[in-house]
Amino acid sequence: MHYHIVENQDGELTDAVPYCSDFCHREHQGILYRGWNGCHEGADYDQECANCGEKILGLDGIEKQAKIHTTEKLQALDDEHGDNYHYQLVDGERYKLTDGEVEWLDFVRGRYCIADHVIENMEDNIYTMDTIGLGQAMEDDGMFPKIVMLSEDSVLHRIAFFSANEPD
Ligand SMILES: [Zn+2]
Repeated sequence: MHYHIVENQDGELTDAVPYCSDFCHREHQGILYRGWNGCHEGADYDQECANCGEKILGLDGIEKQAKIHTTEKLQALDDEHGDNYHYQLVDGERYKLTDGEVEWLDFVRGRYCIADHVIENMEDNIYTMDTIGLGQAMEDDGMFPKIVMLSEDSVLHRIAFFSANEPD
């Protein structure tokens, strides 16, 4: 990301305005633009470009997107008291389908909206979360908040149950 640095008269840093690109930095600051200042890692949290408003992922967001969830890793976090919000994924997080879930997908392929949705958002059996599209596909199959013909014990089903956005 890019920053526009603001200093006081003693040369101390008083503000760092975030931008998604040098273009936005230049456009927003006009004559105050002090030159290219990119290649910054940014904050832990997500920020917005001060010019175009585009979301700039912070380190936490980047880490989440890089990680691929698996059934084993998610099930290891199960809580006997039923607090299972580790199945709640945000947009861009990825999950690798099990062999059983891939079989389910082959079975519903071409027959249900959920299959189209998963296939569209999947590469090498790794699904990338799209909470709105997922909720819509479940709704279009008349199943929200469940997935048609998939065991409710499967991790993919749990992820969908906790993560999908309910359509209006
Ligand atoms: Zn921008």
